Amino acid sequence: MKKLALHWQILLGMLFGVLFALGMVQFSWGPDFVKDWIKPFGSIFINSLKLIAVPLILASLIKGVSDLKDISKLSKMGGRTIITYIVTTVIAVSIGLAIVNVVKPGRTITEETRNELLENYKGDADKKIADAEKQKETGPLQALEDLVPSNIFKAATDNGNMLQVIFFAIFFGIGLILIPEEQAKPVKAFFDGFNAVILKLIDVIMLAAPYGVFALLAALIVESPSADLFVSLFYYALCVVGGLSIMLGIYAIIVWIFTGKSPAYFFKGISPAQLLAFSTSSSAATLPVTMERVEEHLGVDEEVTSFVLPIGATINMDGTSLYQAVAAVFIAQAFGMDLDFTTQLGIIATATLASIGSAAVPGAGMVMLVIVLGQAGIPAAGLALIFAIDRPLDMCRTTVNVTGDAAVSMLVAKSVGKLHTPKPKEWDDNYHQK
Ligand code: ASP
Repeated sequence: MKKLALHWQILLGMLFGVLFALGMVQFSWGPDFVKDWIKPFGSIFINSLKLIAVPLILASLIKGVSDLKDISKLSKMGGRTIITYIVTTVIAVSIGLAIVNVVKPGRTITEETRNELLENYKGDADKKIADAEKQKETGPLQALEDLVPSNIFKAATDNGNMLQVIFFAIFFGIGLILIPEEQAKPVKAFFDGFNAVILKLIDVIMLAAPYGVFALLAALIVESPSADLFVSLFYYALCVVGGLSIMLGIYAIIVWIFTGKSPAYFFKGISPAQLLAFSTSSSAATLPVTMERVEEHLGVDEEVTSFVLPIGATINMDGTSLYQAVAAVFIAQAFGMDLDFTTQLGIIATATLASIGSAAVPGAGMVMLVIVLGQAGIPAAGLALIFAIDRPLDMCRTTVNVTGDAAVSMLVAKSVGKLHTPKPKEWDDNYHQK
């Protein structure tokens, strides 16, 4: 019997998770049952993906950089990657700003609802604001300083810093290029094998994906706040989701124009990673799957994915930047403020930088939003207005973040002649759809 393609399996897992949770909330013991007996499986699934992310970045990036053989190739690819990432982010922010200025969702909020939201979510908003304060207390060169780890093991630990791991891996890879071939050979062979093991482990983890997302969505539903306030945030959510959908369309068109690969091909290849991004709200946790899909189903050479995707997961967040632009203007509108053109131009700059600085974990975009609000002179307490609906929007923006990384890796691969016709591995047709 032909097995269902992976994205259908994951979609069914999500659907059953939602239905199951909706059933369980009918019983008084239902939500606790889900929290105690279902949610842990979701956490195990996310943890296993995160577990794989650091070794994957290390092995694939060291291998990828050393395969480049000469450093000028690296800087050429690096330059193109960063420029394309910035351009797509600026496009995303501009779309968000255009939509929120036309629809004006903030004007639909009554004063009563506004006060109710501010009161209900004040505590949650204050926590995010405190997190943002910590990030703000730094000098102008702090980001550069943070790039270089003093201890690679510390960088790779739980709250470690992905950019530091990326820095180390690139640095190590450059070292491998510079030493004589006979010395480099065994080291490369080691990382080659190591990389193959990690890729195999991703296949194994993905066998559990439909069950993992079932648990994640079930837990999310039983823990989500009551729905009545959602209604008042409907137009705001519509602006964010509408903008994000336009972004997805733009990726597909750009990929089509520059690589000749159709939107159907692009979305079919990347869809399992999108569904996982949606279920986990974390680009970092999704990274292993994004890498595998882009390599094996979209035909991007490992030399490119190993470099472009880990960096993208960390700094390229088009969905997040679009959301930050919409949210900032929405909050201003809800407070009856009028933002002039210069302030809105400022939002393009700060939202671009804030999305680069957002960590690839759930809710991080909202912390950095505080900085965007501060620059534009909008009260940070306004975060309370959008708190109730942030998680579902986080799921949507993370999906766009991951799709953007995949699209850019295809463009970069095409520009350096590294886009091939994918050859799915035969040994695992369980995982790889034909
Ligand atoms: N959750 C997003 C991500 O991991 C970041 C955000 O909160 O916007 O890509």
